[in-house]
Amino acid sequence: MDHFEYRAGELYAEDLKVSEIAEKVGTPFYCYSTATLERHYNVFSGAFDGVNHLVCFAVKANSNLAVIKTLADLGAGADVVSEGELRRALEAGVPASKIVFSGVGKQPHEMALALEVGIHQFNVESEPEVQVLSRVASELGKTAQIAFRVNPDVDAKTHAKISTGKAENKFGVPWQDVSRIYGQAAKLPGIEIKGVDVHIGSQLTDLEPFGNAFDRVRELVQKLRSEGHDITRVDLGGGLGIPYDGNIPPSPSSYATVALNSIGNLGCQLIFEPGRLIVGNAGILVSKVIYVKQGAERKFVILDAAMNDLIRPAMYEGYHQIDTIKQPDASTVISPADVVGPVCETGDTFARERDIPEVQADDLVAFRSAGAYGAVMASTYNTRPLVPEVLVRGDQFAVIRERPSLEALLDLDKMPPWLEKK
Ligand SMILES: *Cc1c(COP(=O)(O)O)cnc(C)c1O
Repeated sequence: MDHFEYRAGELYAEDLKVSEIAEKVGTPFYCYSTATLERHYNVFSGAFDGVNHLVCFAVKANSNLAVIKTLADLGAGADVVSEGELRRALEAGVPASKIVFSGVGKQPHEMALALEVGIHQFNVESEPEVQVLSRVASELGKTAQIAFRVNPDVDAKTHAKISTGKAENKFGVPWQDVSRIYGQAAKLPGIEIKGVDVHIGSQLTDLEPFGNAFDRVRELVQKLRSEGHDITRVDLGGGLGIPYDGNIPPSPSSYATVALNSIGNLGCQLIFEPGRLIVGNAGILVSKVIYVKQGAERKFVILDAAMNDLIRPAMYEGYHQIDTIKQPDASTVISPADVVGPVCETGDTFARERDIPEVQADDLVAFRSAGAYGAVMASTYNTRPLVPEVLVRGDQFAVIRERPSLEALLDLDKMPPWLEKK
């Protein structure tokens, strides 16, 4: 459920006409809905009511400070994967005690900041990493609370580029080695073992892989406890999918049933790291039609948004519903078109032979479900400035990231002395 709906013939974001925002901000732009963010967070967290749990929003899905703050105000923690994301979470008011730090390549300076502010947990992904963390913590006179991310070797049955829980993936420690790795880490100075962590992939639309992974985690917790480790936390990662097309993934409450069946009676704090589920359907990308071009075989709708603004279709065949801002009615002609951007690559295609309402130059369209892995993955390819982000709340909106000027973009480049004008 989201708060982007047609009213009186045109698309609204909560109580605002999307067309009015477009007039003020210019296109393309990302538009997020506060009510949708809040709803998704509350539905997910609410599924674990009465259970000792912590929802750490995966900041990499959407790292705008205003988005993080909206969630932090509801009590959300944060799952971060870099010093930059850690700084964003702190700046947005997430208490350090609700921050977990994930990722395969944490560097000493990143660990040091996390230790200094006192984050809840490091999700450690390798033996070399725990050795570096031990050294950094000892030097600072701190103790790092850790879980190892284990690779449960289950098939998440999602797109290969967003599967992370197979033995062949770069993530986590092999589950066969867990006893040895925990045994050695327990002896390291500056390291306090707290839990077990797992994250098997993103956009899962089936509960079975979760169940398999969580059962494996339960076995590991029991085994590690029998080997003398005081395991009090289990981090089950993120990954629950959202509806992009007609298919409806499992609800947070059925996901919770699976999680609690596996892990519920272990007496552990349960940590979750949802990203896409919270922000995905809380955002749209609004774009304008530049040209409609009749090719030899196909019709092309050329937009002012491109793959540099929203890369999911080009990168992992991501599907986004494309709606016209003007509501189609009985007289609207629907016909197939390729919806493309202006970037000079064939990959800059949002949809092929998609049945969409007929549009003409200057019409506005919205890519639905663009709140996750949208703005955060944008680049300036083709020297296109990053598009702005707007947050709506009821009948108000604010620009929460401005469109940089081309001057600012060009100014980042510097001439070496030998090329400077004489
Ligand atoms: C990407 C990621 C998440 C969030 O995944 P979603 O599919 O957006 O819920 C959570 N935890 C880790 C470790 C991740 O890498």
